[in-house]
Amino acid sequence: MTSLAQTSDELQDLYRELILDHARSPRHFGKLPDATHTAEGINPLCGDKLKMYFRIDGDDRISDARFEGSGCAISVASASLLTDMVIGLHTDEALKYFSALVTRLAGVQPTDNDNAGDDINLGKLRALEGVREFPSRVKCATLAWHALNSAIQRKSQPATTE
Ligand code: ZN
Repeated sequence: MTSLAQTSDELQDLYRELILDHARSPRHFGKLPDATHTAEGINPLCGDKLKMYFRIDGDDRISDARFEGSGCAISVASASLLTDMVIGLHTDEALKYFSALVTRLAGVQPTDNDNAGDDINLGKLRALEGVREFPSRVKCATLAWHALNSAIQRKSQPATTE
């Protein structure tokens, strides 16, 4: 019993390190001049304001991702983890991570028939699961992902061709 608790504490520490690392030195931070899809994420409760940039190629593959803005450590770390993960993914795969993460953070246990969070390995995103204990921070952790979702959903709009 104590060893289990200890293991979980150690994992928590590792995850906290990962979050702090991404918050302190965010990956892919800045504008993406040739972005094809962008979306803003605003979380007024906390004051997080992020802008996400994606370059999505003709085959629906995300070839680059960046973000800028400001927010708390969790929102910035989550956006940084997002950009790290989605580059190279098909938009369908990226959306699977989105729904898996949102499902997990909402504390919903996926059932066998519900593959929203089951068939996907959250990997480093598990670092964000700690916020489940702090419901007000769930919005911080999912903000960038909601922005990713709306950026991708807008793909039906005419793509700008210059
Ligand atoms: Zn926040």
